[in-house]
Amino acid sequence: MHHFDYRGGILHAEGVSLARIAGEVGTPFYCYSSATLQRHYKVFDQAFESMDHMVCYSPKANSNLAVMKTLGDLGAGADVVSEGELRRALAVGIAPDKIVFSGVGKTAAEMRFALETGISCFNVESEPELDLLSQVASGMGVKAAVSIRVNPDVDAGTHEKITTGLAHNKFGISYARAGEVYARAAALGGIKIAGVDMHIGSQITDLEPFSKAYTLMAELVEMLRAAGHTIEHLDMGGGLGIPYRGTNDIPPHPDEYAAMIKRTVGHLGCKLVFEPGRMIAGNAGILVTKIIYAKPSEGRTFLIADAAMNDLIRPTLYDAFHDIWPVDEALKAVPAITGDLVGPVCESGDYIARERSLPDAKAGQMLAVLSAGAYGAVQAGTYNTRLLVPEVMVHGDDYAVVRPRQTYEELIGLDELAAWQ
Ligand SMILES: *Cc1c(COP(=O)(O)O)cnc(C)c1O
Repeated sequence: MHHFDYRGGILHAEGVSLARIAGEVGTPFYCYSSATLQRHYKVFDQAFESMDHMVCYSPKANSNLAVMKTLGDLGAGADVVSEGELRRALAVGIAPDKIVFSGVGKTAAEMRFALETGISCFNVESEPELDLLSQVASGMGVKAAVSIRVNPDVDAGTHEKITTGLAHNKFGISYARAGEVYARAAALGGIKIAGVDMHIGSQITDLEPFSKAYTLMAELVEMLRAAGHTIEHLDMGGGLGIPYRGTNDIPPHPDEYAAMIKRTVGHLGCKLVFEPGRMIAGNAGILVTKIIYAKPSEGRTFLIADAAMNDLIRPTLYDAFHDIWPVDEALKAVPAITGDLVGPVCESGDYIARERSLPDAKAGQMLAVLSAGAYGAVQAGTYNTRLLVPEVMVHGDDYAVVRPRQTYEELIGLDELAAWQ
């Protein structure tokens, strides 16, 4: 469900024509719908209405301050994975006691900053991390609340680059050793055990892997409690998928996800923490790009657009599929072509859609790349000295540029010549 649709023959974001934004901002640009963000957050949050819970949005998916503020204003917390993300969460007024800190490589400096801030919990991913956190917290005379990320060795059935819950992934500690690691944590100074954490992967479209993992988690909580640990909360991670292919790959509704959670861990009486990213932001954003050339080639046409892999790397990195819609609805009536939508970057891996049925767009016409709100702009780079893509947020009939297009002065000015030059 999103708020991108045709009005008067032109694709709109809520009440605003994308042709109008393109005229004023230029292309390419990301466009976010605040109504879609709000709707997704509310649907997810309300699914857990009857349970003690906290939704910590994962800014890793989209950390634009305007996006985070939209969610923070609805009561969202944040699941951060770096000091930078923590600073963004604080900048939009998310209360520290609604912030959890995940990630395999937290540095001492990041731990110190998070402890000074007074975040709610560290999701600890290894024993060396536990030791360092103990040292840092003890040195500051405080106790760090921790939950340990346990890896249930469950296959999330998703792309290999976004599965995280298998034994050979770098995340968490093994399920078999959890008892031992919790015992160690309990004996360490500066550490207070608060919960158990899990996150098995992303773009999961089936409840089965979640249900397996959460069942294991419930058994672990009972085992840890029997060993004398206080387990107040369960961090269920993120990972709920979104429909990238229209109606062909419908993921479970948050209500079904919530019912399964009630069944698997409801009896424990734990506060539940959720870390959704993609489910909130994915379908709330699109990337609008203009065709520079339509290049006929052997057996296929290349639509060469002004957006490239540096702006949206998901197709290259994860073989991701994004629906492509023309901004001008009239193009829908023209027979589709078979071809590739590619960018100007000098890499054969630079494509947004490959061997696909695409609108027969000519130079100057615009296409919208759907479901680009999560893991899109956050992964953008400047390869080929291309400017970071701007971001726009729509709110009803109004829109704002929430990240202006970078300028060449800003980009090239980041470099300095050496003193001897
Ligand atoms: C990436 C990540 C998330 C968010 O995942 P989504 O699939 O976007 O919901 C949540 N928790 C952790 C620890 C992550 O690494």
